[in-house]
Amino acid sequence: MLKINENYLKLQASYLFSDIARRVADFQEKHPDREVIKLGIGDVTRALPRACVQAFHRAVDEMADDATFRGYGPEQGYEFLRQAIAEHDFRARGADISVDEIFVSDGAKCDTGNIQELFSVDARVAIPDPVYPVYLDTNVMAGRTGPFADGRYQGVVYLDSMRENNYVPALPDEPVDLIYLCFPNNPTGSTISREQLAAWVDFARDQKALILFDAAYESFIRDDSLPHSIYEIEGAREVAIEFRSFSKNAGFTGTRCAYTVVPKECTAWDSAGNRQPVHPLWNRRHCTKFNGVSYPVQRAAEAVYSEEGQAQVRELTDAYLRNAAHIAGAMRDLGYELVGGDNSPYIWIWGDRDSWEFFDLLLEKAGVVCTPGAGFGKCGQGYIRLSAFNSFDNVSRAMERIRGALA
Ligand code: PLP
Repeated sequence: MLKINENYLKLQASYLFSDIARRVADFQEKHPDREVIKLGIGDVTRALPRACVQAFHRAVDEMADDATFRGYGPEQGYEFLRQAIAEHDFRARGADISVDEIFVSDGAKCDTGNIQELFSVDARVAIPDPVYPVYLDTNVMAGRTGPFADGRYQGVVYLDSMRENNYVPALPDEPVDLIYLCFPNNPTGSTISREQLAAWVDFARDQKALILFDAAYESFIRDDSLPHSIYEIEGAREVAIEFRSFSKNAGFTGTRCAYTVVPKECTAWDSAGNRQPVHPLWNRRHCTKFNGVSYPVQRAAEAVYSEEGQAQVRELTDAYLRNAAHIAGAMRDLGYELVGGDNSPYIWIWGDRDSWEFFDLLLEKAGVVCTPGAGFGKCGQGYIRLSAFNSFDNVSRAMERIRGALA
């Protein structure tokens, strides 16, 4: 008799986005004449940069000709893209990352979800709260947690991110092995300073732990004092894996391209206490279970690093940041306490009431959809997340309506 992986039965059904959709549908049924503006989603709304589209087209044409056609490519990604990444995203910032430490993939979601496979089932895992749910759920699936009780999985070391610590969690006061960090953060939009990140790197070295650093929103950083990569921090090569994505900087959410950096010094230990480098294991996993991102998509991603691509990506992210600044300014004017919105497309707003109650209020009174913070974890209760991924016109109208409803 076939038995299932019972860890899957521990997973809490995620009703967040289906609940939102249901409440919006109910509202629209009751008020067919009222237009709803969505500031709830994490998906981008603007088209791919011109440079990427042109490179995409050229590559598709190559695929249409026997002389230039390409079949399976290298699983880790084509050299042209990995070179461009190493040069622009790391060496230009003084971070020493080599081409063969970069693994191109079809998403930071898959990579942040899959990476935990390399580590033992009894690894002690530290996960932020509130959180991008993939880190938590994939560890539940792997059996690294106990059952769910009182809003949390037993056995997880939760890293509370709250007003009290300015949404940068404190170092845990118990031993941990795997540490998930995400900055600029989803959902809070908070950032981490060089000194704070250095403290985490030192902690990980001390603990013989590994940091899984999700930098999917790196391109929204405008404050020059903030680190763009964990490898800007001394000693990080030994204790950090970094995840990046083309989804939010270049609008690749539907096109799919991302990458993961695994430095050769990153280590985990076997049961005999021998040092085992993580790099060959990730390489092995990647080559066994993944067959590469399509050639045209990698050419489109490479174009992000061209001179015109860089200018277009900047223009794209600047436009979202303009929306974010507008949202943050309007909510502050209304007297709300918030974080994010300056180096991030997300604004995390303290509503001083139940997250869903605030959601309903904005929907009913303003016709604006947000994301209730409680959907991202226990520490998200009382908050809502507004997202800058929309047109400036929609954002302006939404904030005008919120002003009218809440002032
Ligand atoms: N990491 C974080 C923190 C995210 O918010 C998202 C998407 O919203 C991802 C990763 C997923 O990125 P990708 O589109 O590359 O899978």
